Amino acid sequence: MDGLAYQIRNVSKSYNGRRVLAVDQLEIHRGEILALVGPSGAGKSTLLRLLNFVEPPAEGEIVFFGATLGDGAPVSLELRRRVTTVFQRPILLSRNVWANVAYGLQLRGKKEYHRQVDAALERVGLSHLAKEKARTLSGGEAQRVALARAIVLQPDVLLLDEPTANLDPYNVGLIEDIVRTLNSERGTTIVLVTHNVFQARRLAHRVGLLLDGQMVEIAAAEPFFSAPRDPRTAAFAKGEMVY
Ligand code: ADP
Repeated sequence: MDGLAYQIRNVSKSYNGRRVLAVDQLEIHRGEILALVGPSGAGKSTLLRLLNFVEPPAEGEIVFFGATLGDGAPVSLELRRRVTTVFQRPILLSRNVWANVAYGLQLRGKKEYHRQVDAALERVGLSHLAKEKARTLSGGEAQRVALARAIVLQPDVLLLDEPTANLDPYNVGLIEDIVRTLNSERGTTIVLVTHNVFQARRLAHRVGLLLDGQMVEIAAAEPFFSAPRDPRTAAFAKGEMVY
C-alpha cells in the first residue's frame, strides 16, 4: 500500500437544503479495502457518488491519485474511468452474459477483448453461463456478472455499494472471495459500503463509521471492532444501535 487513492477535505453535500454529508478529512489508501458502515441514511451512498464523480461535492475538494478536483470543473473521462461501481441491484442488458461483460470494453473502443472477457467470467465462476440470457440469472449470479463487468475494465478503484445485500450465503462467500482476490492480486483499491458489520470485519483492512453524514471513527478493522474509541462505534459494532 503506497500512496493515496483519495484525499478528501472539508467535503459536504446537501439535498434540498439539507446537509446529508460533511466529511472533514478522509484518506483512502491505494490498495486497501475500506469498509464504510453505518445505518441507513447515514450518507454512505452519497459519499460513493462523490468518489465515482457522479456528483460533485457542494464544498471542499477531493484529491484523486494526486489530481485535485472540486472547483466545479468537470472530471476528465480518463480519471472517471479509473473508478468502477457495483451496485446492490445490477442492471444487466438483455443480452447474454458474455455480451454484458464485453459491453464496457466495446464502449471504450477496445478491440481484441475476447480473452479478457473469458478470464473475467472465469474469475467469477460463470464461464458455463456465458451464453445464457443475463436476465434469466439468479440474484447471486447476476451480481457476479456485474463484478465480472467491473473487473474486465481493470479499474484502479472499485466501489461496492451493498454488493451482497439480499444474497444467499453461498453467493456472499463467492463474492467476498472474488473481492479479496482482486485486491490482493491486482492491488485494486476497494471501498465497500455495507451495513453488515460482519462483512466489514471479514473483508476490510480499515473500517469507517458514518453517522448523520459524519465520519465518527475510522480505524484498522481489528481495533475498530475490538477497541473502538467512540461509544457510538461500540454500539454499532455490537448491533445495539437502533435505526
Ligand atoms: P445511506 O447510503 O447511508 O443509506 P444515503 O447516502 O443514501 O445514505 O442518504 C443520505 C441522506 O441523503 C438520506 O437522508 C437520503 O434521504 C438523502 N438523499 C440521498 N440522495 C438524495 C437525493 N438524490 N435527493 C434527496 N435526498 C437524497
